[in-house]
Amino acid sequence: MGIIVQKFGGSSVANVERLELVTEHILKEVEKGNKVVVVVSAQGKTTDRLIAEEAEITKNPNRREHDVLVSVGEQITIAKLAMLLTEKKHKAISLTGWQIPIITNSEFSNSRIRYIHNKTIEEYLDAGNIVIVAGFQGVDEIGNITTFGRGGSDTTAVALAASLNAERCDIFTDVDGVYTSDPRIVPTVEKLKSVSYDEMLEMSSMGAKVLHNRCVEIGKKYNVPIYVKSTFERDSIGTLVDDKNLEDLVINGVTKDDYISRITIAGLDNKIGKTCELFQILSKNLINVDVIAQSFGEHINRDIAFTVKMNDLQKTLEVLEENKDLLGAREILHSENLAKVSIIGVGIANKPGVAASMFEALYENNINMHMISTSEIKISVLVNSKDADLAVKAIHKKFFGK
Ligand code: ADP
Ligand code: ASP
Ligand code: MG
Repeated sequence: MGIIVQKFGGSSVANVERLELVTEHILKEVEKGNKVVVVVSAQGKTTDRLIAEEAEITKNPNRREHDVLVSVGEQITIAKLAMLLTEKKHKAISLTGWQIPIITNSEFSNSRIRYIHNKTIEEYLDAGNIVIVAGFQGVDEIGNITTFGRGGSDTTAVALAASLNAERCDIFTDVDGVYTSDPRIVPTVEKLKSVSYDEMLEMSSMGAKVLHNRCVEIGKKYNVPIYVKSTFERDSIGTLVDDKNLEDLVINGVTKDDYISRITIAGLDNKIGKTCELFQILSKNLINVDVIAQSFGEHINRDIAFTVKMNDLQKTLEVLEENKDLLGAREILHSENLAKVSIIGVGIANKPGVAASMFEALYENNINMHMISTSEIKISVLVNSKDADLAVKAIHKKFFGK
C-alpha cells in the first residue's frame, strides 16, 4: 500500500467535533493499510484573528514577525489532532514546517518551496505513525519561519504528495468538489466530476479559492492526482483534478476575484522602452500586476492601465509618483473596489461567440465593464465590486442555463 496525503481546511478542523470527523477520514485510509500524511490548516478563523490582533499593534508589521505570528494557528491544530488520535490508541506525531524541514526562499508571506526533506516524515511513517503536518509554512535556509500566502495549506499538501511520491492527495473542505462557480454565490452550480490541471489553474488564479493555485501548479508538474472532497460526507467522491483530455470541454466555470484596483497612467512617454521600464520598476518593488491594457491615441503620448490587488494599491501609487518624471507620465489615476469576473474553458479562443455571450449577459443586467482581457482558455472582465455577484450569476445562467 502507498502513501496518501490528506488535507483538511480551516472549517473542517474548527472544533473538537469536526476534528473527530477528520479522524474518521484518516482512520479509513489507515485501515486500508495506507501510510497517511495529514496536513491541516488553522482552526476556523484563527488566521484572520491573528492578523486582526497584529493590526492592533501595527499597520506596517515587520514581515518576518508577521510570518512567525500567522504560522502559529496551524501548530495548534497539529497538536490537537495528534492528541485526539493518540487518545484513540493510534500512533500519531505532529510536525511543523521547520521540523521536517520544508525549505523555502525568504519571501515572507509568499514564500516558495525549494525542497522538502522526506527523511523525517518517512522514518515516522515507517515506525507506524500517522504524520500530521502544519500547513502553509516552511523555513528558509537561515532558519526563518516563512508562510506561503493565504490558503497555502493546499500547497503544503500537494508538495508533500509530490515529494513523497504519494498515490494521491485528497483535499477535504466544506464543499464536496469543484463547481462551475462558487456555490456560495451561484446556487444553481454544477459539480465537475473532473477538471484538468490547466483549467483548475485558471479557476484558482481567477479567484476560485477552493484550491490554492500553487498547489495546482505543483500537481501538474509532478502529476499528482488531486481529489477535492467534503469533510462532512462519509463517501464523498468529489472532483478529480488531473490530466484528462482537454479537447472535450468548453466552458468549465465562472469565477470572481475581488479587491482589485485599476491604475491608469495617462500620457506615458511614447518612447521605445518606457513600458518595459514601467513594469521593471513595479517588478523590482514586488508589485504583482494582472490585467494590462494599452491605448494609442493620435497623440504622441499613450495611456496604460493595469490592475493590482487592493492591498498593493498604496505602495504602487507611491512607487509611480516617485518615478513619474522618469516615465514621462502626465497623470496617474486610479479606481478602487473593482472585481474581476472570468469564464474558464479550454477552447475559448477558438469558439466564436463566447465573448459575445458573456458581454451580453452583462449588458442585459446593466453591468459596466472597465477592462477586458483574454487568453487561450479564459476571458476576464473588470466590473464594480458591487456588481460582481450579479455578474457571476448572469454569466453562469447564460452558459449553463441556470
Ligand atoms: P478550506 O478552508 O477548506 O481551505 P476554502 O474556504 O479555502 O476552504 O475553500 C472552499 C470554498 O471555496 C468553498 O466554501 C466555496 O465557497 C469556495 N469556492 C469558490 N469557487 C469555487 C468553485 N468553483 N467550486 C467549489 N468551491 C468554490
Ligand atoms: N491558515 C491559513 C489561511 O487561513 C492557510 C490555510 O488555511 O490554507 O490562509
Ligand atoms: Mg483553502
